[in-house]
Amino acid sequence: MSDEAVKYLYSKRGGPFHDKSCPKAQHIPDEELGYSEKYLSNISQCPLCAVKAYVRLGAKDFYNYPLYERLFRRMRFTPVLLRRMYVNEKIRTSASSNGLTIWGKEDSWRLEFWDGSDTMRLMHNNYYPLPDGTRIFTGGYHLQAERATANYAFTAISGYTYADHKAAMLKREQEQFALKVDVLPEGFSAKKDDLSGAKKKVFWVWKKFIELLRKFFRKRSKCTCKPWRQADLPGWMLLHLKWWGGTASPQTRFAFAALFVVGARLLCYTESYARAFFERGEAYQWNVGTK
Ligand SMILES: [Zn+2]
Ligand SMILES: [Zn+2]
Repeated sequence: MSDEAVKYLYSKRGGPFHDKSCPKAQHIPDEELGYSEKYLSNISQCPLCAVKAYVRLGAKDFYNYPLYERLFRRMRFTPVLLRRMYVNEKIRTSASSNGLTIWGKEDSWRLEFWDGSDTMRLMHNNYYPLPDGTRIFTGGYHLQAERATANYAFTAISGYTYADHKAAMLKREQEQFALKVDVLPEGFSAKKDDLSGAKKKVFWVWKKFIELLRKFFRKRSKCTCKPWRQADLPGWMLLHLKWWGGTASPQTRFAFAALFVVGARLLCYTESYARAFFERGEAYQWNVGTK
């Protein structure tokens, strides 16, 4: 094992785990000395070198250690919290004079001072949701919490996965929808039979037309995207840039792009118009069902 790779020291006869710079580790006799590149969490940590050992484990910029010490004091990170963060949750960080960049399970965050004071805010990386359920990171950060503490940030970051976040959003959406249904005006019914004969026919044709357009979009792009949903359209285009790009000339590509944007927009409008028109009829349910 090369000296460079060694990060931690301990005694094979027991006792605490040390950062390799710890003065207490100097007293371990050579024949007992154990070297480790990895952080061994099953050995109790020496309190003297704890913070340094954690930073060596999780910081991408260990050379910034003096800055970390200052930041942790100002941000009120305790050694216990740092252990949970770096050892238990395997969070990575980098430091700058006004705060920390923190990498959680999937996302990156900024815990930073603002307002020229010790007040901290938590920023979350920007992303764009794609219709296939994944997302792309678009660079930069947005505000997650205007007032954050070290503990708050740790809880928010260590608990965050995109799947959980989406599940929570869906639940909220459903709850809000349930609320809307509750306050629908009297006489509302989602049953087919409540549409008058003529309306029913118009609705049927309309529905077929929309289904046809939907099929067209799906078939051409071989996917299950819903580009007619306003929110899905840009993501759909991103996913299918290749398809409408291809080897065609720039003019053809432009024409395709324009055609699809116009087509998808048309579908958006047609659908929302149908929704408004048949607000009290089957369309209402139909829209909910196909959302
Ligand atoms: Zn130590
Ligand atoms: Zn698609």
